[in-house]
Amino acid sequence: MKLRLLRCAQLTLLTALAAQGFAAIRPPKVLLVVAHSDDEYNFAATTYRITRELGGAVDEVVITDGESGYRYSLLAEKIYGVQLTSEEVGRAHLPAIRKQETLRAGRILGIRHHYFLNQKDEAFTLDPESALHGSWDTKLISAFLDHLLTRQRYDFVFTLLPSEDTHGHHQAATLLALEAVARLQTSERPAILGAEAVEHDQTVRFSGRPGYPLAETIANAPAFIFDRRTSFGYHDALSYAIVVNWMIAEYKSQGLFQTDIGKHDQEWFWLFQVSGVRASLATAGLVEDLLPRTRSSTHR
Ligand SMILES: [Zn+2]
Repeated sequence: MKLRLLRCAQLTLLTALAAQGFAAIRPPKVLLVVAHSDDEYNFAATTYRITRELGGAVDEVVITDGESGYRYSLLAEKIYGVQLTSEEVGRAHLPAIRKQETLRAGRILGIRHHYFLNQKDEAFTLDPESALHGSWDTKLISAFLDHLLTRQRYDFVFTLLPSEDTHGHHQAATLLALEAVARLQTSERPAILGAEAVEHDQTVRFSGRPGYPLAETIANAPAFIFDRRTSFGYHDALSYAIVVNWMIAEYKSQGLFQTDIGKHDQEWFWLFQVSGVRASLATAGLVEDLLPRTRSSTHR
């Protein structure tokens, strides 16, 4: 079996730590914090590997109700029997529809609990402040995250990489998760990572954002990369890309999202500096776990 988990400099360091016997946290316990239903796409293959193959637990917080995702819903009108592309109708019906789609996608990815915070999904913006100081009840979201992090003591929090060219809601969700982690004692903090699904020939770098000190990462290169093309099964014909495609297909109301099928073949993860004191070692352990090295003897 070809191992396609790429080894960037940071990954090599983390793998070296893992090889030295730093115990992996087994099984991993992870919280996903995202703005929209379907944002978990960015770490869908990693989530599946953790839940379905490593016995880990993954929960997901979805902050908005997704009501503004009506523009590309034409094909789904026939599926759901509602004229979703009418803004008024779409905004009224999409929150319930997208919730069901999220639960169905979650069943594929093995997500344990979903938490829907039902904040208003107003419109596309690049400005995180419009959500943080406008359409969202950030007090409620922060209190919820504080409670969940304290109660569940996750090992990892996965968020979307808060690049300035991504949806402002994605940025805002990540900033709120970073703030919640920062409110914990350093010894209690999980490793918090920002992720992005990319194509393997892309070069993405991220070290932080001016004005958002909590978004600083430990390096501008990703801490690790999970390759959806990692092959296994009979004749090595299968890959995690299949699982990602299943997940995408559940979001039938999101027509444009369907065109992401087969598009991004890797999931890149950056480790934020605000992470707990054991974050590098914990991430090294996770990297070791993610390597699908035992599969060849059991699945052929
Ligand atoms: Zn989104």
